[in-house]
Amino acid sequence: MATSSGSAATALLFQVAAREGVIVASESAYHGTLRQLGEYVPAIGGAVRLVDTTDLDAVRAVLDEAGDAVSLLYVETPANPLMGISDLAGLGELAAGRRIRMACDSTFATPVLQRPHELGTHVVIHSSTKYLGGHGDVMGGALIVRGADDWLDALRSLRGVTGAVPSAFDCWLLQRSLPTLPQRVRAQTATAHTVAGFLQSHESVHEVLYPGLSEHPGHAVAARQMSDFGAMLSFRVTTGRAGALAVAAAAEIFTRATSLGGVESLIEHRASIEGPATRTPDDLLRLSIGLEHGDDLCADLARAFEASDRVS
Ligand SMILES: *Cc1c(COP(=O)(O)O)cnc(C)c1O
Repeated sequence: MATSSGSAATALLFQVAAREGVIVASESAYHGTLRQLGEYVPAIGGAVRLVDTTDLDAVRAVLDEAGDAVSLLYVETPANPLMGISDLAGLGELAAGRRIRMACDSTFATPVLQRPHELGTHVVIHSSTKYLGGHGDVMGGALIVRGADDWLDALRSLRGVTGAVPSAFDCWLLQRSLPTLPQRVRAQTATAHTVAGFLQSHESVHEVLYPGLSEHPGHAVAARQMSDFGAMLSFRVTTGRAGALAVAAAAEIFTRATSLGGVESLIEHRASIEGPATRTPDDLLRLSIGLEHGDDLCADLARAFEASDRVS
C-alpha cells in the first residue's frame, strides 16, 4: 500500500496498532518515528514501550511483562543513525509465539538487501523518499502486508480517511526509479564498503558504524539476514562536535543535507537535526553513499578532514 511519505506509513500503522494494544518498539529508530511513538501515539490514547531490539532477552522480558496487551512489535534495522542491527528471525519467533504482529522499517536495507517477510515480519515499511525513489525528488512510503490480514483493510480505510495517499506525479517518478533500484543499491553498497575502510584507517576517526565491518556489534546478524550491508554509515570524529560540523561544512562532493538513499552522496550532523533530546553523539556524522566514484568520495573526505584541522 503506497502512502504519501514514510512518516505517513508509520503513522497509519501506529494508529491501527494502538487501537488493539501496546506497541513495543525499537528505542533506536528514525527520529520522526520516535517522535510519533513518543508524542503522537500517546495523544491518541495509545501506549508504547521502547526497548533495545538488538537485545532479544530485553525484548522477551518486555513482551512477557506486557502479556496479552501487546499488539505490535516494531523494529527498524539497520537503525538510524547508529546502524544497530536487530535479529529479525529471533524477534519474529518471539512475536509468533505470542500472536503479536511484527513490523520492520527496512528503509536502510531496501528490498534488494533484506527480505523481512521471510523472517517472520507481517508488515514491512519503506520510506520511498529514500532508495525506492533514489533521486531525491520523490516523497512516498510503502506498507507491505504479508498474506490475508484485516490490518490491511484498516490501513487502507485510514489512508483514505486521512488523505495520506501519494500524489500521481510521485507515483510516476517512483515507477521511473524502481527498474534501476537493484543496480543503484548494489553499486552504492560497494562504494560504502570502500568509504568505510577509508574512514577506519583515518586518524581523525575514532569509530566507524557500518554493519559490514567485522567489529560492528551487529555484523554477524546482518551477515545472516542481509545479502549485503547497505550504503548508509556513520562515523565519529576525534575532534568533537566542532570538528564534525567543520568536516561536514568542508566536504564538496558530499552535500550537507538530510534525507538519504539518492544517487548523490550526503553528509549530515544528525544531532543538530534531532535537537537537544537526541541520543545521537555530538561527534557523529552520517553518510548516505551515492553513485559517485569511491576514490572521489574518499578524497573529498580526506580534504574535508584537512580543512577542518586547519579551522580547529
Ligand atoms: C526517512 C525515513 C522515514 C520517514 O520517511 P519520510 O518519507 O521522510 O516521511 C522512516 N524511516 C526511516 C528509516 C527513514 O530513513
